[in-house]
Amino acid sequence: MGNKVFTDRSRVEQAQRCLRARWLGYHEQGMGIQSVRKSLPLAVGGAVHEGLAVLLQAASAVPGAHNDPIACVAFEQDAVNAALADFASFDAGRLETDLSEDVDLSAMDAGEREKVRSAIDQYLYDENRALVEAMVRAYARRRLRPLLEQYEVLEVEREGSWELADGLMFMSRPDALLRDRSDHNLYIQSFKTGASWDIRKGKDAEHDAQGLSEGVEIEKRLGERVLGIRYEFLWKGERRRDKDLSARFGVEARSQASPLVRGYLSPGMTDSDAQWNWSWDYMKEGGETSKLYWKAWRAAAVWEHMPIAKWIDMLDATTLTVGEEGREVGWSGPAQATGFTVAHPLDACFHPPIIQYRNDDDLRDWVEQVEHAEVRIAEAVATVHAATDEGEKRHLLNVYFPQSRRECVYPSVCQFEKICYGGEHIRYNPLESGLYTIRIPNHPQEDAKDASEGA
Ligand code: SF4
Repeated sequence: MGNKVFTDRSRVEQAQRCLRARWLGYHEQGMGIQSVRKSLPLAVGGAVHEGLAVLLQAASAVPGAHNDPIACVAFEQDAVNAALADFASFDAGRLETDLSEDVDLSAMDAGEREKVRSAIDQYLYDENRALVEAMVRAYARRRLRPLLEQYEVLEVEREGSWELADGLMFMSRPDALLRDRSDHNLYIQSFKTGASWDIRKGKDAEHDAQGLSEGVEIEKRLGERVLGIRYEFLWKGERRRDKDLSARFGVEARSQASPLVRGYLSPGMTDSDAQWNWSWDYMKEGGETSKLYWKAWRAAAVWEHMPIAKWIDMLDATTLTVGEEGREVGWSGPAQATGFTVAHPLDACFHPPIIQYRNDDDLRDWVEQVEHAEVRIAEAVATVHAATDEGEKRHLLNVYFPQSRRECVYPSVCQFEKICYGGEHIRYNPLESGLYTIRIPNHPQEDAKDASEGA
């Protein structure tokens, strides 16, 4: 191999899912192309990661922060600002929801369609902007201190690369590198945002290549073993059909079922009389379970009634009530006007961390498999780039980068579906359609020229 060629875990996994998606996403036009729209989970997850990186970086720079609850939340606003700045790059209309959430506006005339579409897009943007802010604040209040108490944060989002094969560089950027304060072992921190807990997520982490791939660069650089990867899951809530929202837009609409951005409101005569519950289910003082009375309480978007910071303050003020004889009655506070809840609302948004230990046998297998696959892909990229006309390029793509046709619309719509199944024009000129743009590199080491030549 002549010039350096770059790869990373995302590219490897993309190739394993569909080689044509790998070509389009990382090699078409030299740098690869991407949809001008961004999938909602990726936009929210990316923005939250930005905020958490700022939080970890700032808090870990303060000596003794793990013993100081005030220091742990001192950087919350900086972290929120970073997260919201990242989210602001996906203005309303550029966020893409799942296909199952598509609404049929065909019965409306063009003007009405435009009005409804833009109202839905704006709501989606505002709702998820609120969610990004709330998730970062919730992490700062409830999860940062336990992490700092157990671990020293050595690095945050540090870029690195190592040579997988001759001239083939593997890039990585772990969320953070941690050292256990008691046994001094190294761990990689990985934040995962998801809708809710599912046993498959835990099982999936057991076979995830992230711990294997990200640890290699650290071990080569520091000459020290990385014992495992610490996954920390943050829950965004499901996107559920919402009757009130559907009535507001005149079409079926969904909302984010997360207590971080949605509560149950009983409006008073004035704003100051309004009462909130974060949970529909509650317990009475004697322990009997009950639900809110549907005529008195309606689901409401918190950010339309108060700043998210205020709502997180209310949720954070929740305390555990202990009755006579030391019996725990339940959690209550200003965000739950009715009864007690089983869990603290901010704790309900996280799953206890899972540690996956690295295994030498798995690592050896993974490196050999990835090296072989990536060398072949680099050679194939060079061959396709050398094609002299569209007919030859199409043939070479069919040979070296076939379409898997297995993940085109499920579990989510592939961003290249319009290219694979569109007309001749978009196949040959995806950028001219206005639906795609040149990929923005995810790692600074990438150089357009080196990455494009593939040899
Ligand atoms: S639409 Fe299907 S075949 Fe085309 S790149 Fe995506 S997953 Fe592959």
